[in-house]
Order: sequence, then structure tokens, then C-alpha cells
Amino acid sequence: MKAKAAISNGEGGFSIEEIDITDTPSEDEVLVKIHAAGICHTDWDSLSWGKRIIMGHEGAGVVVKTGPLVKSISEGDRVILNWAIPCGVCFQCIEGNRNICVNNSPVIAGNKPANGHARLESSLHNGVPIERSFSLGTMSEYAVVKESATIKYDIEIPFSSAAIVGCGVSTGVCSVFNAAKVQPGSSVVVIGTGGVGLNVIQGARIAGANKIIAIDINPVRLEMAKEYGATHTVLASKDDKGLLNAAQVVFEITGGKGADYAFECTAVPDLGAAPLAMIRNAGVACQVSGIEQEITIDMRLFEWDKLYINPLYGKCNPQVDIPKLLSLYAKGDLYLDKMVTRKYKLNELNKAFADMHSGINAKGVIVFD
Ligand SMILES: [Zn+2]
Ligand SMILES: [Zn+2]
Repeated sequence: MKAKAAISNGEGGFSIEEIDITDTPSEDEVLVKIHAAGICHTDWDSLSWGKRIIMGHEGAGVVVKTGPLVKSISEGDRVILNWAIPCGVCFQCIEGNRNICVNNSPVIAGNKPANGHARLESSLHNGVPIERSFSLGTMSEYAVVKESATIKYDIEIPFSSAAIVGCGVSTGVCSVFNAAKVQPGSSVVVIGTGGVGLNVIQGARIAGANKIIAIDINPVRLEMAKEYGATHTVLASKDDKGLLNAAQVVFEITGGKGADYAFECTAVPDLGAAPLAMIRNAGVACQVSGIEQEITIDMRLFEWDKLYINPLYGKCNPQVDIPKLLSLYAKGDLYLDKMVTRKYKLNELNKAFADMHSGINAKGVIVFD
């Protein structure tokens, strides 16, 4: 069958093209009609991965057809797609670290398709098999994925809200719950209030943090941060190296003690050590943004007894945590609908990326007819 999809050229650009998708999924494969796909900075990065791929790694839709070995879902089920696809049998999966599965993690597989990828030949572009971003490729009217990449849900939720759960929301909220394990009554700093930062903020609110201090250089984002649960905001200056001045404000707000937890959500390499400057002795600094560059750190920032953790995907165990997040949404605690600030058609992806870079959206989502 034919489908329209956003195809990255691997050299910084993309185009909307027609692809051929198999209508007979084999073994544990599932054919999904995608209804909505979240847009994230990783999608922008994927334009320059040096290979043609079907873009998109956040999505929700309806199961159209299942392969003969599929057991957990059937035709007509609504599913969220999940890019952290655990194999369930490797040593990391057995230890409970399903976010860093040795066999299926696309992040750990690097430049080759992970084992969690459906058959490459399930999707053809100009007659040639084409890879799907993070084994999903959600910016496409249809996708063939592994059963283990799907999470069935039954609650009432718009597809556009469901689509964003499988990446930025889980990364932010699970960093709070699973990685840093924020305690009720504690103080939390969130550096950077982009899509992931806002979800760290709402995670901290749900965890019962007493003080939630949002730091950003953009006053509009700080206003947004308050809507998600920030109790204090600090407008930082671009000239504040390592955010040491902002750290002083954090110490004032926390009665001279320093915060119990600080989350770095900016992806700015120079701010890699900033959360250490915000926390008390024996506090926890958590890098959520995925900084990978070499930076210089003043080791005194670690004094004393501080922990610095760098979880992938917030240590999210998708099959357990995504249903948990959906029930928090159903209770009204987790804000998803208002996080979808703008919706776009697939052919408006250029505009969606421009809006993402200008920071006007909490989150942009592509919706399909
Ligand atoms: Zn993402
Ligand atoms: Zn595994």
C-alpha cells in the first residue's frame, strides 16, 4: 500500500514522499495507521544522520493488521509507539534497565538498525528498503513496527496528546520518578524549560516537591513553567557563565541550603556542570538533555557527596511507566492536552521545525487525516 511520509536525506534536509508499505506484517510485526506524531529536537538531528530514513519517533495510532506471532494487540486497538523497545532477555532487561536494552536500543545500536526494527523491506522508497527513525518512523501515514514497540491503551485521550507520551513526557517525568527519585517536600531546580524541562516540572509537582525553581533565559518559557507547577522562576542572563549567579538565587530561595535535586534540560554543553552548582551536599544532579560534548568541570562543584546521574530516557520502563503516565493524565495530574500547543499537517513540517526552534510551542504535533 502507498503512504505519504517525511523522508530525511541524511544531509540536513527532508521531503514529503510516497512510500510503499507492506500490508502483510510478518511474525511479530504490526501495521499501524498513525494518527499523530510528536515533533522533537531529535527529529531535527535526524536530518543529518548521513542516511535516508523515514522520520519520527513519537506517535500514536490504530492497529490495522498484526503478524501471526502477535499476541498482545489486535486490529482496531489504539496504541502508543515507543522507541525504547526492550528485548526482555538481555542482562540489562533482566536487571530492570529496559531503557538501555543491549539488543534493541536504537541509541546503543548507533548507526545500524537495532534488533527492535521491523524488516527493512517492509517499507520501500523508490523500490529500495528504507530504515525507520528509532525503528518507528512515525511521520508517515502508516508504519510497520515490532509488537514490543506498541503500548495498547484504553483511556479517552486525543491521539495528539497520546503521541507525545512516548518521548519527551516520559523522559522528563521518569527522570523525576525513576532516576532522581524526587521525594515529597523536597526542593527541585529545573534548568531549561523546553518540552522536556516542562515535563520535569510537572513530574516534580506530581512527586510532591515543595519548591520547584525553573531557570531559563526566556521569560515566556518561565511563564509557561508556572502553568506546569514551577513555584519560583529565575530569569538567567546569557552572560551568567555556568549559571553561578542563578545558583546564588537558588541558595537564597532554599534558605542557604541549596536544592535537593537539580535537572539540566538545556542541551547546552557549557551548562553540563550547572546542576552541581545548584544542589546541597549529598544532593542529586541529573542531566536530562543528553549533552555529549567534552567540557571542563571545576571538581569543587562535586563537594560534597553529590551524585551526578545521566539516565537514558529517564530510566523509563515503557510497558510499565507509559500506562502509569496515562492514568496520571486520566486523573488530571499530568497535563498533556495543553502541552500540544500547535498541530500541523505533514506538509507543514518545515513550519513546525521553525516554530520549535523559536521556542513558541510547548510541543508541536503532526496530525494525519
Ligand atoms: Zn523525542
Ligand atoms: Zn534487552
